[in-house]
Amino acid sequence: MKDAVTLYRRLLGSLAPYRGVVALSLLAMVAAAALEPVLPALLKPLVDDSLIARRTAAQWQVPLLILLAFVAKGVAEYVASVSSQWIANKAITDLRRRVFRHQLHLPLAVHQAEAGGRMLSRILYDIPQVGAALSTAWIVVIRDACIIVGLVGYLVYTAWELTVLIVAIAPLVAWLIRIASRKLRGTNRAMQETTGAVTGAVEESLAGIREIKLFGSHDWEDARFATLAERLRKQTMRSVRIAAANAPLVQILAAAAVSAVIWVASLLSAENRLTPGEFVAFVTAMAMLFEPIRRLTNINAVIQRGLAGAQSLFELLDTPAEADATGGTDQRPPARGELRLEHVGFRYPGQDTPALDDFSLTVRPGETVALVGASGSGKSTLVNLVARFHQPQHGRILLDGDALDALPLAWLRSQIAWVGQQVVLFDDTVAANIAYGRPDVSRTAIEAAARAAHAWDFIAALPQGLDTRIGHDGDQLSGGQRQRIAIARAFLRDAPILLLDEATSALDNASERAVKDALDRLRRQRTTLVIAHRLSTVRDADRIMVMAHGRIVESGTHDELVAAGGAYARLLAGGGQAEPALALAEPA
Ligand code: ADP
Ligand code: MG
Repeated sequence: MKDAVTLYRRLLGSLAPYRGVVALSLLAMVAAAALEPVLPALLKPLVDDSLIARRTAAQWQVPLLILLAFVAKGVAEYVASVSSQWIANKAITDLRRRVFRHQLHLPLAVHQAEAGGRMLSRILYDIPQVGAALSTAWIVVIRDACIIVGLVGYLVYTAWELTVLIVAIAPLVAWLIRIASRKLRGTNRAMQETTGAVTGAVEESLAGIREIKLFGSHDWEDARFATLAERLRKQTMRSVRIAAANAPLVQILAAAAVSAVIWVASLLSAENRLTPGEFVAFVTAMAMLFEPIRRLTNINAVIQRGLAGAQSLFELLDTPAEADATGGTDQRPPARGELRLEHVGFRYPGQDTPALDDFSLTVRPGETVALVGASGSGKSTLVNLVARFHQPQHGRILLDGDALDALPLAWLRSQIAWVGQQVVLFDDTVAANIAYGRPDVSRTAIEAAARAAHAWDFIAALPQGLDTRIGHDGDQLSGGQRQRIAIARAFLRDAPILLLDEATSALDNASERAVKDALDRLRRQRTTLVIAHRLSTVRDADRIMVMAHGRIVESGTHDELVAAGGAYARLLAGGGQAEPALALAEPA
C-alpha cells in the first residue's frame, strides 16, 4: 500500500510541468461534481411545491433550473475530460521519450541480461497502461470522489439519521476493495512478464525463421509458443475473474444498504419527520451515489495495472546509465591511438570462467595487431572492452595514457570505427546508412567513402543509387555488400582506432579481394585490432597474437610464428581447434 502511494506520487510528479492545466482540470471536475446534488435538491420543490402544493411559479421554475443545471454540468464535464486527457497524453509522451532515451544509454550488459521482448513490451504495452491510470483513472477518482462528497453532504443535510446507516457500510466496501486490488496487482505483473515472453518468442522466431525451417523445428517452436500463449490466457482470465467479481460484490452490498434505508425512511415519513419531496430527493441522491461508487471500485483495476506498468518503467529509469567521466562532448583533439591493456580481466555475468584473463598488450599508434585463436578464446570480448561496451573487472585499458573510464564516452567512441561480422543497416537510404548519425555530411564525401570501400560499383547499379532505400535491416543486400557499406561508414568516420571483428568472414573470394584492398587502405595510419579467419588479412599485420582461453599464448609476425612452429603454425596446418577458414588457408 505504501509503495503504491510512493509510486503514484512519483507518477503524479510527471504532471508537474503542466500545473496550470491540472488546476483547470481540477476546477472543472469540482464544478461538475458540485452540480451533481442539484438534481435531487430540485426534486424536493418539484414534489412538495409543484406537484403537492401546486404553486404556479414552481411549475415553470423547476424544469428551467434542471435544464440550466445540466447545461452547466455538461460544460464542466467536457472541460474536465479534455483537459485531463491532454495532461495525461503529454505526460505519457514525456515518459515514452524518457524511457526510449534512457534505454539507449543503458550499458550493453543490461540489454543482454533482459529477456528479448521485455524492453519492447515496456515501451509498447506498459506505457499505455500507465496512460490509462493517469487519464481515465484520474478523472474518475477525483470527479467521483467529489460527487460522493457532494451527495453525502446533501444526504446529511436532508436526513442525517439515514446517512449514518449508509456510512456504516463504507468500511466493509473499502475492505473488499483492498483485497481485490492486491490480487489484481499480482496477476497484472505476471501478465506483463508473460506478454514480454510472448513478444520475445515472436521476435526470436522471426529472426530465426531460416534456422527454424532448416532444422524443421516448427512443431517445437509452435509448442513453445502455445505454452506461453496459454499461460497468458490463464493469467488474463484470472485477472478478469477477480475484476468481474469485484463489481457485483460491491453492488450486492449497496443493494442491502438501499433496502435498509428505504425501510427506515418509510418509518420517518410515517412520523411526518420527512416530507414526500425530501423522501424522493433523498432516495434519488442515494441512488445517484451508486454509479460513482461502482466506477470508483472498477477504476481500481485500471489504477493497479497502471501502477504495475509504472513500477516496471521506473525500474528501468532507475537502472544507472553507462558511467561517463565528464558526461561530455567537450572538444578534445583526436587521439594519437596508443592502446594499452594492463592485466585486464573480464568475466561475463553468470559465467564461471573469465573471457579475458590477465591480458596485457600495448598497441602503438598506427600499428595493426591481429588476434587469432579458437572460437570463444575472447577475441570479440577484447574489442568490446576497447569500445567500453563492457567494463573490465580487473586491470585497466588506456588510450594515449588516459584510462578509458576517465574519458568522455562520446569522445572515446567517436575515436573508434568498427566493422563487425554482422553489419546492422537501418531502414533508410544507402547514403544515410553510410553517413549514419551524421545528416550534415556532403554527397561527395559519402561517394568518396563508398569508392574507397569498393562499394561504389554496386551502389551505382542500384535503382536510385545512393538514394535507394535498403529496407528494414537491408535484407536485399548480400553479405559482401553490407560489409562494404560498413567499411564505407568507417572510411567516412575517419577515426584513429579501427576495430575489425571478422569483417571479412561473410565474403566470397571475389569480393574478399576488393574488401581486403579497401581494408588495407582503411588501416593505414590507424591503430587497428583485427580479428580474422582469413590468412590474407592476418599475414600483413605488424604483430599477430594467438589467443586461447582469454590469454595470449604466442605472439610475433607471421614469418616468426610460422618458423616457431607453435600454436599459430598448428592453426595454419589445420590442427587443434582451428576455425575452418583459417585452417583451410594455405601457408605462405
Ligand atoms: P571469440 O570472439 O574469440 O570467439 P568471445 O570474446 O566472443 O570469443 O567469447 C569469449 C567467451 O565469453 C566465450 O566463452 C563466450 O561463450 C563468452 N561470452 C561471450 N559473450 C558473452 C555474453 N554476452 N554473455 C556471456 N558470455 C559470453
Ligand atoms: Mg568473436
